[in-house]
Amino acid sequence: MEQFQEVVVNLAAGKIPKTTDSVTVYESSLEKVDSTHIVMVKSGTEKYLVAAGEGALFNELEGENIGQGKICGLTHHNSKVLNKYFDYTNPQAFGTEIATMGLGDRLGVASPGHIETVKNRKVKPILAQQSIRELTLLNRTMTDVLDAATFAVFQEGYKDGYGADADHIKLEKDIEYALDLGFSFLTLDCSEQIRNDIEGATTDEIHKEFADLPVDRKEYFENHYLNKPFEIEGLTVKFDEASLHKNVLVYGEAIDFMEHVYNEYLAKADKAIDFEISIDETETVTAPEAHFFVAEELRRRGVTVQSLAPRFCGEFQKGIDYIGDIIQFEKELHEHAEIAKYFGYKLSIHSGSDKFSVFPIIGKYTEGLLHIKTAGTNWLEAIRVIAQVNPDLYRRMHVYAQEHFEETLKYYHVTPDLDSVVPLDETSDADLPTYMDHDASRQLFHVTYGILLTAKSSESGADLFRTEFFTTLMNNENAYRSALVKHIGRHLDLLGL
Ligand code: ZN
Repeated sequence: MEQFQEVVVNLAAGKIPKTTDSVTVYESSLEKVDSTHIVMVKSGTEKYLVAAGEGALFNELEGENIGQGKICGLTHHNSKVLNKYFDYTNPQAFGTEIATMGLGDRLGVASPGHIETVKNRKVKPILAQQSIRELTLLNRTMTDVLDAATFAVFQEGYKDGYGADADHIKLEKDIEYALDLGFSFLTLDCSEQIRNDIEGATTDEIHKEFADLPVDRKEYFENHYLNKPFEIEGLTVKFDEASLHKNVLVYGEAIDFMEHVYNEYLAKADKAIDFEISIDETETVTAPEAHFFVAEELRRRGVTVQSLAPRFCGEFQKGIDYIGDIIQFEKELHEHAEIAKYFGYKLSIHSGSDKFSVFPIIGKYTEGLLHIKTAGTNWLEAIRVIAQVNPDLYRRMHVYAQEHFEETLKYYHVTPDLDSVVPLDETSDADLPTYMDHDASRQLFHVTYGILLTAKSSESGADLFRTEFFTTLMNNENAYRSALVKHIGRHLDLLGL
Protein backbone atom coordinates (compact mmCIF):
# COMPACT_ATOMS: atom_id res chain seq x y z
CA MET A 1 0.00 0.00 0.00
CA GLU A 2 3.12 2.22 0.32
CA GLN A 3 2.90 3.15 -3.34
CA PHE A 4 -0.38 5.01 -2.78
CA GLN A 5 1.00 7.34 -0.09
CA GLU A 6 1.72 10.17 -2.48
CA VAL A 7 -1.70 9.94 -4.17
CA VAL A 8 -3.40 10.09 -0.77
CA VAL A 9 -1.36 13.08 0.41
CA ASN A 10 -2.12 15.01 -2.78
CA LEU A 11 -5.81 14.12 -2.72
CA ALA A 12 -6.14 15.13 0.92
CA ALA A 13 -4.54 18.48 0.07
CA GLY A 14 -7.02 18.95 -2.78
CA LYS A 15 -4.27 18.65 -5.42
CA ILE A 16 -4.43 16.54 -8.59
CA PRO A 17 -2.31 13.43 -7.95
CA LYS A 18 0.20 12.61 -10.69
CA THR A 19 1.22 9.33 -12.26
CA THR A 20 4.42 7.92 -10.73
CA ASP A 21 6.62 4.93 -11.56
CA SER A 22 4.45 2.64 -9.49
CA VAL A 23 0.96 4.17 -9.83
CA THR A 24 -0.96 5.30 -12.91
CA VAL A 25 -3.50 8.00 -12.11
CA TYR A 26 -6.57 8.35 -14.34
CA GLU A 27 -6.88 12.10 -13.99
CA SER A 28 -10.21 12.34 -15.82
CA SER A 29 -11.80 10.34 -13.02
CA LEU A 30 -11.05 12.87 -10.28
CA GLU A 31 -14.22 13.82 -8.39
CA LYS A 32 -15.14 15.68 -5.23
CA VAL A 33 -18.24 15.19 -3.07
CA ASP A 34 -18.47 17.43 0.02
CA SER A 35 -14.96 17.11 1.41
CA THR A 36 -14.08 13.72 -0.10
CA HIS A 37 -11.81 13.55 -3.15
CA ILE A 38 -11.76 10.32 -5.13
CA VAL A 39 -9.75 9.11 -8.12
CA MET A 40 -9.14 5.87 -10.06
CA VAL A 41 -5.60 4.53 -10.18
CA LYS A 42 -3.71 1.47 -11.38
CA SER A 43 -0.86 -0.26 -9.58
CA GLY A 44 0.73 -3.18 -11.41
CA THR A 45 -2.23 -4.60 -13.31
CA GLU A 46 -4.83 -3.91 -10.59
CA LYS A 47 -7.09 -0.89 -10.46
CA TYR A 48 -8.27 0.86 -7.30
CA LEU A 49 -10.28 3.84 -6.16
CA VAL A 50 -8.35 6.10 -3.83
CA ALA A 51 -10.39 8.40 -1.60
CA ALA A 52 -9.29 11.01 0.90
CA GLY A 53 -11.20 13.38 3.13
CA GLU A 54 -14.30 12.81 5.17
CA GLY A 55 -18.04 12.45 4.79
CA ALA A 56 -20.65 9.96 3.67
CA LEU A 57 -18.98 8.94 0.40
CA PHE A 58 -15.68 8.29 2.16
CA ASN A 59 -17.39 6.25 4.88
CA GLU A 60 -19.47 4.16 2.51
CA LEU A 61 -16.55 2.98 0.38
CA GLU A 62 -15.02 -0.29 1.52
CA GLY A 63 -11.24 -0.53 1.57
CA GLU A 64 -8.06 -0.22 3.54
CA ASN A 65 -7.31 2.99 5.43
CA ILE A 66 -3.93 4.57 4.90
CA GLY A 67 -3.20 7.95 6.49
CA GLN A 68 -6.05 10.27 5.62
CA GLY A 69 -7.11 8.05 2.75
CA LYS A 70 -8.67 4.77 1.81
CA ILE A 71 -7.58 2.34 -0.92
CA CYS A 72 -10.62 0.61 -2.37
CA GLY A 73 -10.81 -2.41 -4.65
CA LEU A 74 -13.13 -2.45 -7.68
CA THR A 75 -15.73 -4.51 -5.84
CA HIS A 76 -19.46 -4.74 -6.43
CA HIS A 77 -20.04 -2.81 -3.21
CA ASN A 78 -17.85 0.08 -4.37
CA SER A 79 -19.52 0.07 -7.79
CA LYS A 80 -22.88 0.59 -6.07
CA VAL A 81 -21.39 3.44 -4.04
CA LEU A 82 -20.26 5.15 -7.28
CA ASN A 83 -23.76 4.60 -8.73
CA LYS A 84 -25.25 6.30 -5.70
CA TYR A 85 -23.02 9.39 -5.71
CA PHE A 86 -22.37 9.86 -9.44
CA ASP A 87 -25.53 9.55 -11.47
CA TYR A 88 -23.65 9.39 -14.80
CA THR A 89 -22.30 5.97 -13.79
CA ASN A 90 -25.83 4.53 -13.97
CA PRO A 91 -27.05 3.09 -17.27
CA GLN A 92 -29.86 4.95 -18.98
CA ALA A 93 -32.35 4.47 -21.82
CA PHE A 94 -31.98 6.49 -25.04
CA GLY A 95 -35.30 6.03 -26.85
CA THR A 96 -35.56 6.42 -30.60
CA GLU A 97 -34.06 9.84 -31.34
CA ILE A 98 -30.40 8.88 -31.42
CA ALA A 99 -28.41 5.93 -32.73
CA THR A 100 -27.05 3.45 -30.22
CA MET A 101 -24.26 0.93 -30.51
CA GLY A 102 -23.94 -2.23 -28.48
CA LEU A 103 -20.29 -2.71 -27.51
CA GLY A 104 -20.19 -6.02 -25.72
CA ASP A 105 -17.03 -6.27 -23.67
CA ARG A 106 -16.42 -9.93 -22.91
CA LEU A 107 -13.27 -9.07 -20.98
CA GLY A 108 -14.46 -6.19 -18.85
CA VAL A 109 -11.57 -4.01 -20.03
CA ALA A 110 -12.65 -2.65 -23.44
CA SER A 111 -15.05 0.08 -22.35
CA PRO A 112 -12.47 2.88 -21.91
CA GLY A 113 -11.55 2.43 -25.59
CA HIS A 114 -15.22 2.35 -26.55
CA ILE A 115 -15.92 5.54 -24.66
CA GLU A 116 -13.11 7.30 -26.48
CA THR A 117 -14.44 5.98 -29.81
CA VAL A 118 -17.96 7.38 -29.43
CA LYS A 119 -16.94 10.81 -28.10
CA ASN A 120 -18.21 13.54 -30.44
CA ARG A 121 -20.11 11.02 -32.58
CA LYS A 122 -23.84 10.84 -33.26
CA VAL A 123 -24.22 7.61 -31.30
CA LYS A 124 -24.60 6.55 -27.67
CA PRO A 125 -22.72 3.53 -26.32
CA ILE A 126 -24.41 0.51 -24.82
CA LEU A 127 -21.31 -0.47 -22.87
CA ALA A 128 -22.76 -3.37 -20.94
CA GLN A 129 -24.12 -6.03 -23.26
CA GLN A 130 -23.66 -9.72 -22.74
CA SER A 131 -25.90 -12.55 -23.77
CA ILE A 132 -26.64 -15.44 -21.41
CA ARG A 133 -24.57 -17.61 -23.76
CA GLU A 134 -21.51 -15.36 -23.33
CA LEU A 135 -21.98 -15.10 -19.57
CA THR A 136 -22.15 -18.87 -19.26
CA LEU A 137 -19.10 -19.49 -21.44
CA LEU A 138 -17.04 -16.97 -19.46
CA ASN A 139 -18.35 -17.69 -15.93
CA ARG A 140 -19.41 -14.04 -15.63
CA THR A 141 -22.62 -12.64 -14.20
CA MET A 142 -24.80 -9.70 -15.23
CA THR A 143 -23.55 -7.96 -12.10
CA ASP A 144 -19.91 -8.29 -13.23
CA VAL A 145 -20.81 -6.75 -16.57
CA LEU A 146 -22.60 -3.77 -15.02
CA ASP A 147 -19.82 -3.18 -12.50
CA ALA A 148 -17.20 -3.17 -15.27
CA ALA A 149 -19.18 -0.51 -17.16
CA THR A 150 -19.62 1.61 -14.02
CA PHE A 151 -15.89 1.59 -13.31
CA ALA A 152 -14.99 2.35 -16.94
CA VAL A 153 -17.34 5.34 -17.08
CA PHE A 154 -15.92 6.61 -13.80
CA GLN A 155 -12.32 6.09 -14.92
CA GLU A 156 -12.89 8.10 -18.09
CA GLY A 157 -14.99 10.79 -16.41
CA TYR A 158 -17.53 10.11 -19.16
CA LYS A 159 -20.76 11.98 -18.44
CA ASP A 160 -22.70 11.77 -21.72
CA GLY A 161 -24.64 8.65 -20.81
CA TYR A 162 -24.40 4.96 -21.56
CA GLY A 163 -26.77 2.01 -21.69
CA ALA A 164 -26.76 -1.55 -20.37
CA ASP A 165 -28.39 -4.25 -22.48
CA ALA A 166 -29.69 -7.50 -21.00
CA ASP A 167 -29.00 -9.18 -24.30
CA HIS A 168 -30.97 -11.97 -25.95
CA ILE A 169 -33.06 -12.80 -22.91
CA LYS A 170 -35.54 -15.64 -23.33
CA LEU A 171 -36.76 -16.34 -19.81
CA GLU A 172 -38.94 -14.22 -17.58
CA LYS A 173 -36.79 -14.91 -14.54
CA ASP A 174 -33.80 -13.38 -16.36
CA ILE A 175 -35.85 -10.32 -17.34
CA GLU A 176 -36.83 -9.77 -13.73
CA TYR A 177 -33.26 -10.23 -12.57
CA ALA A 178 -31.81 -7.83 -15.15
CA LEU A 179 -34.34 -5.09 -14.48
CA ASP A 180 -33.77 -5.40 -10.73
CA LEU A 181 -30.04 -4.93 -11.30
CA GLY A 182 -30.66 -1.69 -13.17
CA PHE A 183 -30.26 -2.67 -16.82
CA SER A 184 -31.65 0.05 -19.09
CA PHE A 185 -32.14 -1.98 -22.26
CA LEU A 186 -33.86 -5.34 -22.72
CA THR A 187 -33.46 -7.48 -25.83
CA LEU A 188 -36.22 -10.03 -25.86
CA ASP A 189 -35.21 -13.08 -27.84
CA CYS A 190 -38.33 -14.71 -29.28
CA SER A 191 -36.60 -17.55 -31.09
CA GLU A 192 -38.20 -20.23 -28.89
CA GLN A 193 -41.66 -19.02 -29.93
CA ILE A 194 -40.99 -18.56 -33.64
CA ARG A 195 -41.89 -21.65 -35.65
CA ASN A 196 -39.16 -22.71 -38.06
CA ASP A 197 -41.08 -25.71 -39.37
CA ILE A 198 -43.63 -23.61 -41.29
CA GLU A 199 -41.13 -22.55 -43.96
CA GLY A 200 -40.98 -26.13 -45.23
CA ALA A 201 -44.71 -26.92 -44.87
CA THR A 202 -47.04 -27.26 -47.88
CA THR A 203 -49.87 -24.79 -48.56
CA ASP A 204 -52.36 -27.48 -47.55
CA GLU A 205 -50.64 -28.15 -44.24
CA ILE A 206 -50.51 -24.44 -43.44
CA HIS A 207 -54.14 -24.00 -44.39
CA LYS A 208 -55.21 -26.88 -42.21
CA GLU A 209 -53.25 -25.69 -39.17
CA PHE A 210 -54.69 -22.22 -39.51
CA ALA A 211 -58.20 -23.69 -39.79
CA ASP A 212 -57.63 -25.42 -36.42
CA LEU A 213 -57.09 -22.09 -34.58
CA PRO A 214 -59.91 -20.75 -32.38
CA VAL A 215 -62.55 -18.88 -34.37
CA ASP A 216 -62.06 -15.51 -32.70
CA ARG A 217 -58.30 -15.68 -33.28
CA LYS A 218 -58.79 -16.42 -36.97
CA GLU A 219 -61.24 -13.54 -37.28
CA TYR A 220 -58.95 -11.18 -35.39
CA PHE A 221 -56.26 -11.65 -38.00
CA GLU A 222 -58.41 -12.03 -41.13
CA ASN A 223 -60.54 -8.94 -40.53
CA HIS A 224 -57.51 -6.73 -40.18
CA TYR A 225 -55.14 -8.07 -42.82
CA LEU A 226 -56.74 -10.17 -45.50
CA ASN A 227 -56.45 -8.50 -48.92
CA LYS A 228 -56.06 -5.02 -47.42
CA PRO A 229 -53.13 -3.03 -48.76
CA PHE A 230 -50.96 -1.18 -46.24
CA GLU A 231 -49.12 1.79 -47.72
CA ILE A 232 -45.67 2.58 -46.36
CA GLU A 233 -43.23 5.01 -47.99
CA GLY A 234 -42.39 3.40 -51.35
CA LEU A 235 -43.79 0.03 -50.37
CA THR A 236 -47.19 -1.66 -50.37
CA VAL A 237 -47.65 -4.62 -48.04
CA LYS A 238 -50.54 -6.96 -48.76
CA PHE A 239 -51.53 -10.32 -47.34
CA ASP A 240 -53.41 -12.95 -49.29
CA GLU A 241 -54.73 -16.02 -47.54
CA ALA A 242 -51.53 -18.04 -47.96
CA SER A 243 -49.18 -15.32 -46.71
CA LEU A 244 -51.41 -14.29 -43.82
CA HIS A 245 -51.84 -17.86 -42.58
CA LYS A 246 -48.14 -18.45 -42.81
CA ASN A 247 -47.21 -15.33 -40.83
CA VAL A 248 -49.81 -16.05 -38.15
CA LEU A 249 -48.41 -19.54 -37.68
CA VAL A 250 -44.74 -18.52 -37.71
CA TYR A 251 -45.02 -15.42 -35.49
CA GLY A 252 -48.37 -15.70 -33.65
CA GLU A 253 -47.06 -17.24 -30.46
CA ALA A 254 -43.97 -15.01 -30.46
CA ILE A 255 -46.16 -11.88 -30.68
CA ASP A 256 -48.28 -13.07 -27.73
CA PHE A 257 -45.04 -13.49 -25.76
CA MET A 258 -43.80 -9.98 -26.66
CA GLU A 259 -47.14 -8.54 -25.55
CA HIS A 260 -47.02 -10.46 -22.28
CA VAL A 261 -43.47 -9.35 -21.48
CA TYR A 262 -44.27 -5.74 -22.30
CA ASN A 263 -47.36 -5.63 -20.08
CA GLU A 264 -45.79 -7.59 -17.27
CA TYR A 265 -42.36 -5.89 -17.09
CA LEU A 266 -41.82 -2.88 -19.35
CA ALA A 267 -45.13 -1.12 -18.71
CA LYS A 268 -44.63 -1.61 -14.95
CA ALA A 269 -40.97 -0.54 -14.79
CA ASP A 270 -40.25 2.51 -12.64
CA LYS A 271 -37.81 4.04 -15.13
CA ALA A 272 -37.46 4.27 -18.92
CA ILE A 273 -36.19 1.04 -20.49
CA ASP A 274 -35.26 0.56 -24.15
CA PHE A 275 -37.21 -2.48 -25.32
CA GLU A 276 -35.86 -4.39 -28.30
CA ILE A 277 -37.56 -7.29 -30.03
CA SER A 278 -35.22 -9.85 -31.54
CA ILE A 279 -36.58 -12.19 -34.18
CA ASP A 280 -33.16 -12.70 -35.72
CA GLU A 281 -31.83 -15.83 -34.06
CA THR A 282 -33.97 -18.22 -36.06
CA GLU A 283 -33.69 -20.15 -39.29
CA THR A 284 -36.45 -18.08 -40.86
CA VAL A 285 -35.27 -15.00 -42.76
CA THR A 286 -37.58 -12.13 -41.87
CA ALA A 287 -39.26 -11.03 -45.09
CA PRO A 288 -40.19 -7.31 -45.03
CA GLU A 289 -43.85 -8.35 -45.05
CA ALA A 290 -43.27 -10.53 -41.96
CA HIS A 291 -41.52 -7.62 -40.25
CA PHE A 292 -44.54 -5.45 -41.00
CA PHE A 293 -46.90 -8.09 -39.63
CA VAL A 294 -45.04 -8.31 -36.30
CA ALA A 295 -44.78 -4.52 -36.00
CA GLU A 296 -48.43 -3.92 -36.85
CA GLU A 297 -49.49 -6.48 -34.23
CA LEU A 298 -47.32 -4.76 -31.60
CA ARG A 299 -48.93 -1.43 -32.50
CA ARG A 300 -52.45 -2.88 -32.32
CA ARG A 301 -51.72 -4.33 -28.88
CA GLY A 302 -50.25 -1.11 -27.52
CA VAL A 303 -46.72 -2.50 -27.21
CA THR A 304 -44.07 0.23 -27.62
CA VAL A 305 -40.63 -0.88 -28.73
CA GLN A 306 -37.50 1.20 -29.31
CA SER A 307 -35.90 -1.23 -31.74
CA LEU A 308 -36.48 -4.48 -33.61
CA ALA A 309 -33.94 -6.89 -35.06
CA PRO A 310 -35.06 -8.88 -38.11
CA ARG A 311 -33.03 -11.70 -39.56
CA PHE A 312 -31.71 -10.27 -42.82
CA CYS A 313 -31.21 -12.19 -46.03
CA GLY A 314 -27.72 -13.56 -46.59
CA GLU A 315 -25.45 -14.32 -43.65
CA PHE A 316 -24.34 -12.14 -40.77
CA GLN A 317 -21.67 -14.44 -39.41
CA LYS A 318 -19.65 -13.42 -36.38
CA GLY A 319 -16.58 -11.25 -36.85
CA ILE A 320 -16.43 -11.20 -40.65
CA ASP A 321 -17.97 -9.28 -43.53
CA TYR A 322 -21.45 -9.84 -44.96
CA ILE A 323 -21.94 -13.01 -47.02
CA GLY A 324 -24.67 -12.91 -49.66
CA ASP A 325 -26.30 -11.02 -52.50
CA ILE A 326 -25.70 -7.33 -51.86
CA ILE A 327 -28.33 -6.15 -54.38
CA GLN A 328 -31.02 -8.23 -52.63
CA PHE A 329 -29.74 -7.09 -49.25
CA GLU A 330 -30.00 -3.42 -50.27
CA LYS A 331 -33.58 -3.85 -51.51
CA GLU A 332 -34.73 -5.62 -48.33
CA LEU A 333 -32.75 -3.41 -45.95
CA HIS A 334 -34.41 -0.39 -47.55
CA GLU A 335 -37.85 -1.93 -46.93
CA HIS A 336 -37.01 -2.94 -43.36
CA ALA A 337 -35.75 0.59 -42.68
CA GLU A 338 -38.95 2.15 -44.04
CA ILE A 339 -41.10 -0.17 -41.93
CA ALA A 340 -39.13 0.73 -38.80
CA LYS A 341 -39.51 4.45 -39.57
CA TYR A 342 -43.23 4.03 -40.22
CA PHE A 343 -43.74 2.50 -36.78
CA GLY A 344 -41.29 4.87 -35.10
CA TYR A 345 -38.55 2.60 -33.82
CA LYS A 346 -34.95 1.91 -34.74
CA LEU A 347 -33.91 -0.95 -36.97
CA SER A 348 -31.46 -3.14 -35.07
CA ILE A 349 -28.53 -4.91 -36.70
CA HIS A 350 -27.23 -7.93 -34.78
CA SER A 351 -23.83 -9.57 -35.30
CA GLY A 352 -23.15 -6.11 -36.69
CA SER A 353 -19.37 -6.10 -36.40
CA ASP A 354 -17.12 -6.08 -39.43
CA LYS A 355 -19.92 -5.84 -42.04
CA PHE A 356 -17.89 -3.24 -43.90
CA SER A 357 -19.32 -3.92 -47.35
CA VAL A 358 -22.90 -3.21 -46.25
CA PHE A 359 -22.36 -0.44 -43.66
CA PRO A 360 -22.78 2.33 -46.27
CA ILE A 361 -26.14 0.78 -47.31
CA ILE A 362 -27.26 0.48 -43.69
CA GLY A 363 -26.18 4.07 -42.98
CA LYS A 364 -27.99 5.41 -46.05
CA TYR A 365 -31.42 3.89 -45.41
CA THR A 366 -31.54 4.13 -41.63
CA GLU A 367 -30.48 7.78 -41.90
CA GLY A 368 -28.47 7.69 -38.71
CA LEU A 369 -31.17 6.14 -36.52
CA LEU A 370 -30.36 2.55 -35.78
CA HIS A 371 -29.11 0.20 -33.13
CA ILE A 372 -26.14 -1.98 -34.01
CA LYS A 373 -24.62 -4.71 -31.85
CA THR A 374 -21.00 -5.75 -31.75
CA ALA A 375 -19.24 -7.95 -29.22
CA GLY A 376 -16.70 -10.52 -30.33
CA THR A 377 -14.85 -8.09 -32.56
CA ASN A 378 -13.69 -6.27 -29.43
CA TRP A 379 -12.15 -9.48 -28.16
CA LEU A 380 -10.46 -10.01 -31.53
CA GLU A 381 -8.83 -6.60 -31.22
CA ALA A 382 -7.49 -7.75 -27.85
CA ILE A 383 -6.08 -10.83 -29.57
CA ARG A 384 -4.43 -8.54 -32.13
CA VAL A 385 -2.71 -6.68 -29.29
CA ILE A 386 -1.56 -10.02 -27.79
CA ALA A 387 -0.15 -11.03 -31.17
CA GLN A 388 1.78 -7.74 -31.32
CA VAL A 389 3.21 -7.66 -27.82
CA ASN A 390 3.31 -11.27 -26.59
CA PRO A 391 3.91 -13.55 -29.61
CA ASP A 392 4.60 -16.57 -27.45
CA LEU A 393 1.23 -16.33 -25.70
CA TYR A 394 -0.48 -15.77 -29.04
CA ARG A 395 1.07 -18.92 -30.48
CA ARG A 396 -0.03 -21.07 -27.54
CA MET A 397 -3.57 -19.70 -27.70
CA HIS A 398 -3.76 -20.24 -31.45
CA VAL A 399 -2.76 -23.89 -31.15
CA TYR A 400 -5.23 -24.46 -28.30
CA ALA A 401 -8.04 -22.78 -30.24
CA GLN A 402 -7.39 -25.03 -33.23
CA GLU A 403 -7.44 -28.13 -31.05
CA HIS A 404 -10.75 -27.15 -29.43
CA PHE A 405 -12.60 -25.47 -32.30
CA GLU A 406 -15.09 -28.32 -32.84
CA GLU A 407 -16.45 -27.92 -29.30
CA THR A 408 -17.72 -24.43 -30.07
CA LEU A 409 -20.00 -25.46 -32.89
CA LYS A 410 -22.77 -26.30 -30.47
CA TYR A 411 -23.00 -22.58 -29.59
CA TYR A 412 -22.09 -20.78 -32.79
CA HIS A 413 -22.87 -20.94 -36.46
CA VAL A 414 -19.63 -20.20 -38.30
CA THR A 415 -18.10 -21.87 -41.34
CA PRO A 416 -14.41 -20.95 -41.45
CA ASP A 417 -12.16 -22.70 -43.95
CA LEU A 418 -9.52 -23.63 -41.38
CA ASP A 419 -7.30 -25.13 -44.06
CA SER A 420 -6.82 -21.61 -45.40
CA VAL A 421 -5.12 -20.50 -42.16
CA VAL A 422 -1.36 -20.20 -42.73
CA PRO A 423 0.46 -22.66 -40.41
CA LEU A 424 1.93 -20.99 -37.33
CA ASP A 425 5.46 -22.30 -37.97
CA GLU A 426 5.48 -20.51 -41.34
CA THR A 427 4.57 -17.16 -39.77
CA SER A 428 7.13 -14.84 -38.21
CA ASP A 429 6.38 -13.11 -34.92
CA ALA A 430 6.11 -9.79 -36.73
CA ASP A 431 3.36 -11.19 -38.97
CA LEU A 432 1.25 -12.76 -36.21
CA PRO A 433 -1.16 -9.78 -36.06
CA THR A 434 -2.14 -10.46 -39.68
CA TYR A 435 -4.04 -13.52 -38.48
CA MET A 436 -6.62 -10.98 -37.28
CA ASP A 437 -7.05 -9.77 -40.87
CA HIS A 438 -7.95 -13.24 -42.10
CA ASP A 439 -11.56 -14.47 -41.97
CA ALA A 440 -10.95 -18.06 -40.92
CA SER A 441 -8.51 -17.26 -38.12
CA ARG A 442 -10.78 -14.43 -36.93
CA GLN A 443 -13.64 -16.88 -36.61
CA LEU A 444 -11.40 -19.46 -34.99
CA PHE A 445 -10.71 -17.00 -32.16
CA HIS A 446 -14.13 -15.43 -32.25
CA VAL A 447 -15.88 -18.56 -31.04
CA THR A 448 -13.17 -20.10 -28.81
CA TYR A 449 -13.01 -17.20 -26.30
CA GLY A 450 -14.82 -19.16 -23.58
CA ILE A 451 -12.61 -22.21 -24.01
CA LEU A 452 -9.42 -20.13 -24.03
CA LEU A 453 -10.22 -17.97 -21.03
CA THR A 454 -11.39 -20.85 -18.86
CA ALA A 455 -8.72 -23.39 -19.93
CA LYS A 456 -6.88 -25.05 -17.05
CA SER A 457 -3.69 -27.07 -16.93
CA SER A 458 -4.57 -30.75 -16.53
CA GLU A 459 -1.62 -31.20 -14.13
CA SER A 460 -1.73 -28.17 -11.82
CA GLY A 461 -5.28 -26.93 -12.41
CA ALA A 462 -3.87 -23.43 -12.95
CA ASP A 463 -5.17 -21.12 -15.70
CA LEU A 464 -3.51 -21.88 -19.01
CA PHE A 465 -3.91 -18.41 -20.51
CA ARG A 466 -6.26 -16.25 -18.49
CA THR A 467 -3.83 -14.65 -16.04
CA GLU A 468 -1.11 -14.00 -18.61
CA PHE A 469 -3.70 -12.72 -21.09
CA PHE A 470 -5.13 -10.12 -18.70
CA THR A 471 -1.71 -9.12 -17.39
CA THR A 472 -0.49 -8.54 -20.94
CA LEU A 473 -3.58 -6.52 -21.81
CA MET A 474 -3.42 -4.39 -18.66
CA ASN A 475 0.25 -3.66 -19.32
CA ASN A 476 -0.71 -2.53 -22.83
CA GLU A 477 -3.89 -0.66 -22.05
CA ASN A 478 -3.14 2.18 -24.43
CA ALA A 479 -2.42 -0.16 -27.32
CA TYR A 480 -5.80 -1.84 -26.77
CA ARG A 481 -7.54 1.50 -26.52
CA SER A 482 -6.02 2.69 -29.81
CA ALA A 483 -6.91 -0.57 -31.55
CA LEU A 484 -10.56 -0.18 -30.54
CA VAL A 485 -10.71 3.49 -31.49
CA LYS A 486 -9.41 2.57 -34.93
CA HIS A 487 -11.49 -0.56 -35.50
CA ILE A 488 -14.85 0.54 -34.06
CA GLY A 489 -14.23 4.03 -35.45
CA ARG A 490 -14.07 2.51 -38.93
CA HIS A 491 -17.54 0.99 -38.33
CA LEU A 492 -18.93 4.37 -37.33
CA ASP A 493 -17.31 6.20 -40.24
CA LEU A 494 -18.90 3.86 -42.78
CA LEU A 495 -22.28 4.02 -41.03
CA GLY A 496 -22.11 7.82 -41.21
CA LEU A 497 -22.22 8.25 -37.45
ZN1 ZN B 1 -29.34 -11.45 -32.35
